[in-house]
Amino acid sequence: MNIGKVIQPTPGRGIVIAGPCSAETEGQVMQCAKDLAKLGQVDLFRSGIWKPRTRPGSFEGVGKEGLSWLKRVKEETGLRTTTEVANASHVYDCLKAGIDVLWIGARTTVNPFSVQEVADALNGTDIPVLIKNPINPDLGLWQGAVERIYKAGITRIGLIHRGFSYHGETTYRNVPRWQLAIEMNRLFPDLQMIVDNSHICGRRDTLLEVAQEALNLNYDGLMTEVHPRPDEAWSDAAQQITPAVFGELLQNLRLRKPTVSEIEMEKLTELRRQIDEIDTELIGMIGRRMKLADAIGEFKAERNIAVLQSDRWEAILHTAAEKGKKHGLSPEFMKQYLQAIHQESIDHQDAIVNRRN
Ligand code: PEP
Ligand code: MN
Repeated sequence: MNIGKVIQPTPGRGIVIAGPCSAETEGQVMQCAKDLAKLGQVDLFRSGIWKPRTRPGSFEGVGKEGLSWLKRVKEETGLRTTTEVANASHVYDCLKAGIDVLWIGARTTVNPFSVQEVADALNGTDIPVLIKNPINPDLGLWQGAVERIYKAGITRIGLIHRGFSYHGETTYRNVPRWQLAIEMNRLFPDLQMIVDNSHICGRRDTLLEVAQEALNLNYDGLMTEVHPRPDEAWSDAAQQITPAVFGELLQNLRLRKPTVSEIEMEKLTELRRQIDEIDTELIGMIGRRMKLADAIGEFKAERNIAVLQSDRWEAILHTAAEKGKKHGLSPEFMKQYLQAIHQESIDHQDAIVNRRN
């Protein structure tokens, strides 16, 4: 693959892409762009014009009209612009409006029909394209999207890592699964890798640490959602920050090339972080299990059934030992683990019975 850079970064500094989640009004877009331009560190102004929303009824973007605002951004601030495209007509409209870089969103990367439609529309052009990871942790889809765009003749392609959706409790809106992005980087070493810390975090207070982690892993830059009045944003309000706060974030980032031993350390930190994430999830699940035990306790108390039912307990122990074995967990461990949980359930149920008596 002969791939060029989407953006030539200023030496000593990573690529910086910033702007609102959505273009809402001409005033909001212009104010955001002017404030960002003043920071003097932004390479590309982002803004969603067509917004893929999970459910209808939310703000779905201003559409085509917003492209003329992005044109004005470029004319008046000098910032180059980028927006999301999901179908052929988006591509044609952007090309006509002189948008500098296109990006394919996470909800589009999952769908080969849509990616192919975008690729066909791009054929014969040489606009740079950034491709976000698919929503689900399937590297094949991300890889496939790169291949489709490359086959269309696009030679400047980059990747945006925006995390993966996850069913269950997590600290992140979209869990990063850094190892998947690292693997993508191994498969396509020439493609620049940008972290979208906004969509990974889903909130403001962790934006810096996620951006820093990405830089420690040698990413080429970041894409962050910035809004002049984040709390009033029409989409993704919780994760957006003001241009001033974004300026502080850039100031606080440590840019560095990690040494080999630091890379080893990063691996360890990442493994520990994954363990912490699983622990949080396990505790939440045990809590949910206990609520079910409480409901059973109420049921038993109402009908005067004994709290401990030994045949049920035997059955649980037996199936758990079998299941544990499949995951390399010893029968002793499974027994101790279940006994601890079972004891807590019995205590809960006893408390329910005592309360009723
Ligand atoms: C966005 O960048 O505003 C967006 C919709 O992101 P994603 O495709 O990552 O959800
Ligand atoms: Mn967004």
